[in-house]
Amino acid sequence: MHELSLAQTICEIVADHVTQGQRVKTVVVDCGPLSGVVPEALEYCFPIVAAATGMAEAQLDLRRLTAPASCPACDAQFDVDQLWATCPKCEHVPVTVVGGTEFRLKEIEVDDV
Ligand SMILES: [Zn+2]
Repeated sequence: MHELSLAQTICEIVADHVTQGQRVKTVVVDCGPLSGVVPEALEYCFPIVAAATGMAEAQLDLRRLTAPASCPACDAQFDVDQLWATCPKCEHVPVTVVGGTEFRLKEIEVDDV
C-alpha cells in the first residue's frame, strides 16, 4: 500500500525534527486532489505507523486542497478533481490545471514535556 510508505516517510521526517522531551501533537499535511494520495487510506495508516514510531498521541491533520483550473476557451475558473477534466461551462477539453498536485508536510506541533 502506497499510503503506508507515505505514513512511514512522514513519521521519519517528524522524528528527525523533534528533540527528546518533545511530544508530537499534530502533524499538518497538505494534500491536493491530484497528488495520487488517497486521503482516507493515509488517515487510516498514520495512527498505526505513528504508534509504532513512538508518537502514539500524534494526530494527522490532513488538509485537502483544491485543484484550481481555468478554461482556455471561455476563461471560466473552477476546481477540478482530475487532470483530464471538462470545462463545466462550455465543455471544452482540455482545461488548464494550475495546482492540486501538492503533497507536503506543512507543520509539526509539539508539546514540551
Ligand atoms: Zn470553458
